Amino acid sequence: MAAAAAHVLVFPFPLQGHINCMLPFATALAGAGILVTFLHSDHNIRRLGHASAPPSPRLRFLSIPDGLPDNDPRSVGGLLELVKSLQVVASAAFRALLASLLSTTNPSRADHHDGADAADSDGGFPSVTCVVADGYLPWAIDVADELGVPVLAFRTSSACSILAFLSAPRLFELKELPFPAGGDLDEPVRGVPGMESFLRRRDLPSSFRRAGEHGVNPRLPVLVKDTFHSGKARALIFNTAASLERSALAHIAPHMRDVFAVGPLHAMFPAPAAVATSLWREDDRCVAWLDGQADKSVVYVSLGSLAVMSHEQFTEFLSGLVAAGHPFLWVLRPDMVGESRDGDATTPQDAIRAAAGDGKAHVVAWAPQRDVLRHRAVGCFLTHAGWNSTLEAVVEGVPMLCWPFFADQQINSRFVGAVWRNGLDMKDVCERGVVEKTVREAMESDEIRQSAEALAEQVKRDIADGGSSAMELKRLVSFIRELSS
Ligand code: UDP
Repeated sequence: MAAAAAHVLVFPFPLQGHINCMLPFATALAGAGILVTFLHSDHNIRRLGHASAPPSPRLRFLSIPDGLPDNDPRSVGGLLELVKSLQVVASAAFRALLASLLSTTNPSRADHHDGADAADSDGGFPSVTCVVADGYLPWAIDVADELGVPVLAFRTSSACSILAFLSAPRLFELKELPFPAGGDLDEPVRGVPGMESFLRRRDLPSSFRRAGEHGVNPRLPVLVKDTFHSGKARALIFNTAASLERSALAHIAPHMRDVFAVGPLHAMFPAPAAVATSLWREDDRCVAWLDGQADKSVVYVSLGSLAVMSHEQFTEFLSGLVAAGHPFLWVLRPDMVGESRDGDATTPQDAIRAAAGDGKAHVVAWAPQRDVLRHRAVGCFLTHAGWNSTLEAVVEGVPMLCWPFFADQQINSRFVGAVWRNGLDMKDVCERGVVEKTVREAMESDEIRQSAEALAEQVKRDIADGGSSAMELKRLVSFIRELSS
């Protein structure tokens, strides 16, 4: 009997870092001949201008409300509100949408001699056969389950961070958690398998740190529960490569029904050029500025789409960067720097111009980051170590200098500094002298550059034909086809 057409509904958490790896994933599935509906929030689809331009006959965009007013900044300070609002408003909209997408008929694939699935002649997609939901939206797994659709979970963060959450019950058993009040964050942590030789308290995801009345951050049990919840899905998909996180993946596997490591996806399946992926307008004048700089001479500074820094931190970074003496390109989103406590009204942009002098620094509100990282002039990347940024730097072989803010950034930066050794980890110390010294070291160390280049070669082998990520993706496509039949 002919198999039904496979139609996957891909549903990312509606933030930049999640879209940036789940859209290449959707592109990969469409490239493998599967029909894909990519589900945005109404707010994001408006910002991206996606609705009007379907990029491929097998990939389309739909949207549902996220429940927040359009002028809400959806920044890190309001993240919890977004999580709650999605749980109430978006989950109801998701249920209604999925139910309606299940009521269409599903033709047999035998009609298509190229083995690919196709929309019907008026562009209509057949019934959804499988859902891939962001693991950060645990309720989406339940909704799909209740409606009888096979569901897979996708984690956009590192596998090592997910293993830390899965290990949390053991850390409580071993009395590693909660951290003792006033305890030393440099103490090693027991209980995260495969990481005992290098993991310190300060390297666990930020929600493990002391907070609240009893020393346990109220978000930690929720995040742990959500992570275990992915075990209900048919499989867990990671945007990572086996050679980067082999041990973590192996220790996650017993908790899940299946695990796929199919990344770094941005390097395997860049979203089609016609598809906007940035929620901010990319300012590509910075690429022209880089064209005028010497090879490997520039420090690229970008702290992602969410991080917000205090005015004091900004001043320490700026002073350290200027003292290190290398030209730098700095991404400063308009909402990124807090106000000065002493009433100094100088804008961060003016402060940079005044401190660095003309030509030595360039500031943009948002950069085409992947183009910047592959530019010959970039010598190192001062980053918050978000997982996408980490993978983007790894693929380009650019040495990293990490100053993590929250979430998985603390553990990612430990891997950079102590495991892959493709950069340095400055976590928790934001002082101009330290910034100056570590920028110099990241720019000048042959050892770090060689490790970064070797790591890039290794990951390129993973994503090339026959490499582990390419093979895993093939296995995943077959798995989805089987679930869809
Ligand atoms: N990014 C970009 N331009 C910028 C800054 C960031 O395109 O000026 C992209 C970056 O390439 C990455 C994403 O935004 O793909 C940020 O994701 P990440 O996981 O690194 O951090 P988050 O924003 O989630 O903290």
